[in-house]
Amino acid sequence: MPQAVIAIHGGAGTITRAAMDANREREYTTALEQVLLAGQRVLAEGGSALDAVTEAVRLLEECPLFNAGKGAVLTHAGTYELDASVMDGATLNAGAVACVKRLRNPVLAARAVLEKSEHVLFAGEGAEAFAEAQGLELVAPDYYFTQARYDQWQRAQGTTGMALLDHDAAALAAKAAQENKADPLDADTKFGTVGAVACDANGNLAAATSTGGVTNKQVGRVGDTPVLGAGCYADDVAAVSATGTGEMFIRTAAAFDVSAQMRYAGLSLEESARRVVMEKLTAIHGRGGLIAVDRAGNVTLPFNTEGMYRGLARVGEPVNVWIYG
Ligand code: ASP
Repeated sequence: MPQAVIAIHGGAGTITRAAMDANREREYTTALEQVLLAGQRVLAEGGSALDAVTEAVRLLEECPLFNAGKGAVLTHAGTYELDASVMDGATLNAGAVACVKRLRNPVLAARAVLEKSEHVLFAGEGAEAFAEAQGLELVAPDYYFTQARYDQWQRAQGTTGMALLDHDAAALAAKAAQENKADPLDADTKFGTVGAVACDANGNLAAATSTGGVTNKQVGRVGDTPVLGAGCYADDVAAVSATGTGEMFIRTAAAFDVSAQMRYAGLSLEESARRVVMEKLTAIHGRGGLIAVDRAGNVTLPFNTEGMYRGLARVGEPVNVWIYG
């Protein structure tokens, strides 16, 4: 039996030490540690990998530091559209929601889809109606609001007109500040898509991912997060949660490919994930990273950006968190 373990991420991008002060760094590491401790507790009490990843991602959604739930980024129209998914490796059961605007915790809606529906993926109003019927909490759009996100969106609109990974937006702002130029983007916007993967004491695997998407995205755009096999995947070989330029993760079936290369080519978890992130994604200019665990409890956390908020906790051991490369 493996030692149960949970790993989490809070998004990847151009996160550099130069752009981060000590207080802010502490805020992030503390938030990541708290979430890991909660996930570790679920596993230590005999909870399933599915329960551990759902709870970890729910807590990350509640934290305004990250681009999921409260603290989500804005679309080009200044609205919020959130995506989330969850998958149980033991059964291949899965649930996902896309483009939801009124759910406090999209990951709980995804979990309800997994448990209570014959379908796998709900979008928009239908997803909200389903979640409401399951007794999940609805919120007004201003629930997601944070000033930092709003400022970031305004500047993205005014200066680049492009959709941006949130951490890249923050780095652009820091670079401009260092060069004494007017900030193209807000300096305190180093937030990120969130995810968790776990292996429980029975060797069962699960993954969950949740996001507000990319800043200034077109209305109706759906990224990799709710697409099983792209931004989230779990089977009896590996569980994977991804963050980055979602379009490229969809085009490479990135999360599924980690498991597939292990199953069909006999690669190790680490080598399989490395090839996906460092070779297949970079070949089409995909930026970001992923977290993955296999049924022996091995964990790998590769990324091709400057940083990725990430951490892992094995039951009975201290938690570890990292930000930079
Ligand atoms: N992958 C997410 C998306 O494309 C964004 C992110 O990871 O920050 O929606």
